[in-house]
Amino acid sequence: MSSTIIRVVVVGAASAGATAAKSLSQSSSCGSGPGNSKVQVTVVERRDHYFHNIGALHGSVEPTGFLPKLFLPLDRLFESKWGKCPRDKYKSGTSSSSGGGSDTVNEKARGGSDDDGCGDHSVVRGTLTETHPNHIVLDNGQELPFDYLVLATGSDNHSPAKIVSLTREDGIKEIRGFNQELEKASKVLIIGGGAVGVELAGEIATKYGPTSDISGSGGSKAVTLVHGNSKLGASHLNQKFHDDVKAKLEQLGVNVYLNERIIMPPDVKLDNKVCSRIINSISGKEFESDLQILATGNRINTDYMKTLAPTITSKISEKLDSIIPLVDPETNHIRVKPTLQLADPAYPHIFAPGDVNDLPHSEKNAMKAKTQGDTVAKNIKALIDVNYHGLRKSGNIKEANEALEKAALSDWSNFPRNTGMVTVGPNMGSVQFLGWNLTGGFGNFVIRKTKGKDYLLSFFGSTYGYKPDQSK
Ligand SMILES: Cc1cc2nc3c(=O)[nH]c(=O)nc-3n(C[C@H](O)[C@H](O)[C@H](O)COP(=O)(O)OP(=O)(O)OC[C@H]3O[C@@H](n4cnc5c(N)ncnc54)[C@H](O)[C@@H]3O)c2cc1C
Repeated sequence: MSSTIIRVVVVGAASAGATAAKSLSQSSSCGSGPGNSKVQVTVVERRDHYFHNIGALHGSVEPTGFLPKLFLPLDRLFESKWGKCPRDKYKSGTSSSSGGGSDTVNEKARGGSDDDGCGDHSVVRGTLTETHPNHIVLDNGQELPFDYLVLATGSDNHSPAKIVSLTREDGIKEIRGFNQELEKASKVLIIGGGAVGVELAGEIATKYGPTSDISGSGGSKAVTLVHGNSKLGASHLNQKFHDDVKAKLEQLGVNVYLNERIIMPPDVKLDNKVCSRIINSISGKEFESDLQILATGNRINTDYMKTLAPTITSKISEKLDSIIPLVDPETNHIRVKPTLQLADPAYPHIFAPGDVNDLPHSEKNAMKAKTQGDTVAKNIKALIDVNYHGLRKSGNIKEANEALEKAALSDWSNFPRNTGMVTVGPNMGSVQFLGWNLTGGFGNFVIRKTKGKDYLLSFFGSTYGYKPDQSK
């Protein structure tokens, strides 16, 4: 007797997407849905790997030993620790495209069916360009139909915080290229003192700063960090945290300037290449440097949403209604409900976990993305249990809506707002936990024992089935 396939497509294989995909693939005996149905998970990822960007800044000063470990292949994503889906069921991909070309990284046949239900999941290499109510389109024109869709495409930052490259080989070249420029520079200016700017300043100063014990190439460098307000490292944490971060940067010899807004020269594109420049701030200060690095803002990846039509309106006057867009036009975040479904009743089968959504975005992080991935998997399972997709597909809208009401969906529970940690190099940093500050030497100790140890690579890497030393 043939089984019904429930198609779940997950776009983006980082903290949010990989967690959702893995959890769904392992649900009830390796992907079986209710009745005679099987859950088939297809992950779409533009890269041929997962890039662990939490370690990117340390990798940019340690480009030989540490950097290559940050690129984890996706061939073991569906492998279960508990041996439900043995690894040899998945052939490792031969993808060599350096562009955004689509091919299957994990060559297990899509749409085929294995007796044990384990083998129906796959990873497809490609970039999502169009989203429609029941299918998506990739950059090579390939169409993927879905019953449930998870949009976990996150955000892009300036290199080296996140890479532009799409292959492991090019990504390593990209960050090594940055390191070569850094080695040549003697005065480094970092623009932006959020978590990325602080962590980069800490890494460069630890390796090359005036107080560092450097020998060989690279030479000692002056590091200057300019920040537009007084909240260093993480704006949602308290003043004691910001003061501790500043003291630790200064201890490493970093020149920290707060409440200084840089005037970006209009004809200059900062490209992480050595070039002597004087850059001014609004208050009239001049910052002289030979390498300027942008550590400001990020870009949310939601271009593919233009093809999905919003269906809800709000009254702007007696006669005029305005459409409420699915994507916030100012921030580019996808608007979601607390269940992480799109905030539009036409799309209860489409979810958006992680950096990509509009839940309080000043505090986005990988732990939240991961827990949101879990919530999405749980909610898709709850919809599968009430056969929402089946009723919807058969055109039985009334019954589908009743099933939707009946489904036990969970709201994502936010992390405590007053918790966070920022490294200042691998050995120092500041921590705030539930409002309590772990500052000074105690903060450094906690950093060394946690994030500074391997930049959480073992923790996040386990989702991909790799230990740091196995990723080659
Ligand atoms: C330098 C740095 C340090 C950080 N340190 C920490 C930390 O210590 N702790 C912490 O918790 N968080 C940290 N963060 C934040 C954390 O990395 C992000 O919050 C987290 O990565 C978000 O995960 P995500 O899955 O939502 O999205 P992302 O990590 O942005 O991943 C999105 C994925 O989708 C893919 N993708 C994007 N668009 C498409 C498309 N159109 N088609 C196909 N695939 C696509 C991308 O290639 C990527 O793999 C740090 C961030 C940076 C930049």
